Parts: sequence; structure tokens; C-alpha cells
Amino acid sequence: MKALITGGVGFIGSHLAEHLLSHGQQVAVIDDLSSGRLENVAHLRANPHFHLAIDSIANEIVMDRLASECDIIYHLAAAVGVEMVVHSPVHTIETNIMGTAAVLRVANRYRRKVVLTSTSEIYGKSERVPFAEDDDRLLGPTTRSRWSYACSKAVDEFLALAYAKERGLPVAIARLFNTIGPRQTGRYGMVVPRFVAQALAGEPLTVYGDGRQTRCFADVRDVVRGLARLAECSEAESEVFNLGSTREISIAELARLVIAVTGSRSQIVFMPYEEAYEAGFEDMQRRVPDVTRAARVLGWRAETALEETLRAVAEYAVARRRGAEGAGAR
Ligand code: UDP
Repeated sequence: MKALITGGVGFIGSHLAEHLLSHGQQVAVIDDLSSGRLENVAHLRANPHFHLAIDSIANEIVMDRLASECDIIYHLAAAVGVEMVVHSPVHTIETNIMGTAAVLRVANRYRRKVVLTSTSEIYGKSERVPFAEDDDRLLGPTTRSRWSYACSKAVDEFLALAYAKERGLPVAIARLFNTIGPRQTGRYGMVVPRFVAQALAGEPLTVYGDGRQTRCFADVRDVVRGLARLAECSEAESEVFNLGSTREISIAELARLVIAVTGSRSQIVFMPYEEAYEAGFEDMQRRVPDVTRAARVLGWRAETALEETLRAVAEYAVARRRGAEGAGAR
């Protein structure tokens, strides 16, 4: 089995590459390094079953060759992160819509199954708890940049399902809820790597809003196991699956947990949304997945305890800082 991972140098893509290689598959990765970091796959480069193309998914010549040579495509390349979306909406919309269109076009040419990674952001600010895959979605106005991400990913889902319906292309869609683990960067706004970095540096943890908003954080290693199940499972075709943890935690509680896990003496400070993002920023109060479908069809559920993942994130951050200091000293 030979897999192609778009965005395979990124946080989730690099864990997926590792998972597939450890299960005896060959892995080709295409990544333009726009948000992925080469150090994420440094340990895989010597593996003869791992191939890396540093290029854009918009390069159709390269994508054509890679698609022709693989059995399955995991499409993860995308512009992600609330901060990236708010500050670079043109890049977000163009990358997500045109990039996915290019991937589906070549996949269809060679009749390769596509596992498309989408997002829980799709549900928008609907107040339903939990979110099931066929629920209605509630998005804010086009004047609020945040919603461009949800819309762009919704178009990706529509397009993938359209290829499935009209052209018979095998596709399966994963809606990822907040995914965390080693190698995730806080650069684009993600809360866990930020809190961990702040706690390790003894700086205040910045909780946006009143901190009562909740999320469910799944370990990336559980998530990539789910993606691999979507690839294997023919029953998953033309379907959408929530992949996420069902343990709900408020952001203020998360901050306290990060402080406890890292043994930090940091304080917690509360920061208004308009200061953190932009005026009129809209956040979701709760975001909880209904994972009944993933459990029934894929036999999947998130298993790793949040504390264990936070410890792994902290260990990674410490090791990375030591590496950087070592390199600086040399
Ligand atoms: N958040 C926070 N401090 C930070 C970064 C994020 O309090 O430094 C909050 C953010 O406002 C949101 C939650 O943490 O309510 C999760 O944010 P993230 O960007 O990680 O994911 P998403 O908003 O997509 O769920």
C-alpha cells in the first residue's frame, strides 16, 4: 500500500506518516512548508519507504505524478488556525478551495480514494451539543473573517461529495475537532501549545474571553488512527465522520490543568477577544462531537487521557527548546 499525504510535513500529517510507515505502508508526502516544519519529519527522512516532495498541491504536474504512483490520498494540506484565518483570509480561502479542487481532480483522473480532512469549525456557532454529522450549520456573516475558514472547508466537503456522487470517486470525510499533541505550533493561535509554552516559561497563561467556553481535545495519535480506518473502510465512502474526544473542558480549566501538569508557577490572565483577535470576533461557547458514527462504522474512539497528551506536549516543548539552545551554543 502506498499513501500520498498532502500537508504531510505539518502537525497532523507528520503523525499520520509515522503511523502508516509503522504499519508497513509506503508514504509519499507533498508539502509547501507554508506552515509545516521540516523538523517534523526529520526522523523519517532516512526511511527508504518515505518520500518527500517540497512543492505546492497547486502544481498539477507534480500532483499528477504523485497521484498516479499512490493507492490512496490523504488530503491534509490547508490553511489552518484561527489567527491565520483572521489575518490572512485571502490565503486561507484560495489555499483551501483551489488546493482541494486540484487534489480531487488528479485523484479522479487515477481513481484514487481520497480521505479529506475537514473541521468541526464547519458547525459554526450552532449551540447544539453534541454536533452530529448531519446537523444544520450556523455561520456568521461574511464580514467576519473567521467564518471564511468554515465556508472554505464546507466547499471542500461539497466538492468531494460531488465527485463521489457524480463521478463515483471513493471519498471519505473526517471532521476533526480540536486535535493536540507534540509538534503542534502555537503560531497560528492554537491554545494548547501556547498555554504549555507560557507555563514552561513561567509567563501568564492568556485565557481569551471569560474562559468558560469549552472544547474537547483529542490526541493526534488517536486522530491519525481514525484517518487510517477511514482509508481502509469501504463502508465509510461518501460519508462524513466526526473525529474527536468527548471529554469537554473549559479553557480556564484547561489553563489550570496545564499549570498542574507542567508544575508551573504561572498565573492566569483573562484577555478580551477583541484584543486577542479583532473587533467583533465571534467565538463558540461549546464544541462537542457526537462520535456515534465513527464508533459504529470504524470501531474508533479517542482513547488517550488529556493529561497524558499534555505531558507529551510539554516534553516535546522542553526537548525542542533544549535542541535550539544546544544548536545556539554550538
Ligand atoms: N484561546 C485562549 N488563549 C490562547 C489561544 C486560544 O484562551 O492563547 C481560546 C480560544 O479563544 C478558543 C479556545 O481557546 O476559545 C480554543 O482555541 P483554538 O484556537 O486552539 O481552537 P478553536 O478556536 O478553533 O477551537
